[in-house]
Amino acid sequence: MTRAAQFRETLDRRPILGDGATGTQLQQLGLAPGQGGEFWNVDHPDRVRQVHRAYAEAGAELLTTNTFGGTSCVLAGHGAAHRVRELSVAGARLARDCAGDRAWVLGDIGPFGGMLEPLGDAAEDEVALAFREQAAALLEGGADLILVETMSDPAEAVLAVRAAKAAGAECVIATYSFQQSSAGYRTMMGTAAGPALAALVAAGADVVGANCGTELSLDDYVRLTAELVAAAAGRPVIVQPNAGSPRLVDGAICYDESAAQFAAATPRLLAAGARIVGGCCGSTPAHIAAMAPHFSR
Ligand SMILES: [Zn+2]
Repeated sequence: MTRAAQFRETLDRRPILGDGATGTQLQQLGLAPGQGGEFWNVDHPDRVRQVHRAYAEAGAELLTTNTFGGTSCVLAGHGAAHRVRELSVAGARLARDCAGDRAWVLGDIGPFGGMLEPLGDAAEDEVALAFREQAAALLEGGADLILVETMSDPAEAVLAVRAAKAAGAECVIATYSFQQSSAGYRTMMGTAAGPALAALVAAGADVVGANCGTELSLDDYVRLTAELVAAAAGRPVIVQPNAGSPRLVDGAICYDESAAQFAAATPRLLAAGARIVGGCCGSTPAHIAAMAPHFSR
């Protein structure tokens, strides 16, 4: 049985604990905001491994590769569009080394950083190729599944899911970033959970959900989870909240929601129907360790 098949089989039986933030953890190890964290897969592999190990030791069953900004589109902003394969293969290998048999590796793909035609000037076929190139590199480096995350535009999310499948991913997880609007929870593009998730399901996503919301409390996430479950057409739902909104305190970025608050929210998220719960920006190994008692391995 492949690792992806083991993941599916496990998820059918019981909820799975994800990991927490990568970017904010790397910033604590010296990564400057705006600096491409993906370069650390080659320049500071020890620090990236340190983050993965801390999550694995906290009980995370999913380790997310440090490749969020690893498409050629995003790397082009650092003059490094030619380094996609190098950085994503290296990132997947680092997570794979730390995962062993105790966790699955999620090959992470974030937004390409622009707007698709006709709203923007990016052509769909070029963006699809960029997603496929990165997905192939992540799988080559040992990723078990592909995670498409922090999406706002369903058209972009669909391109990424299809590209990951075309690159050979057996299992694709896809999540949007939602925010509160006067009409309810919406992506930045104004899409509600229903149509947003329907697009993912039609594109073949195996697990769907939300991560990295803007100005959403953990209570919001419980309510949003119920909406996601209703919209998921039977697909398992993943929820990875931020530890609150970032605040600048004495020049440092702080997140206010504690490990204890995450631990308290976890059974409520599971009761609302989430099958995978982890954390996004600001969450730490301490958050994951506090959530772990709610999951039976
Ligand atoms: Zn985030």
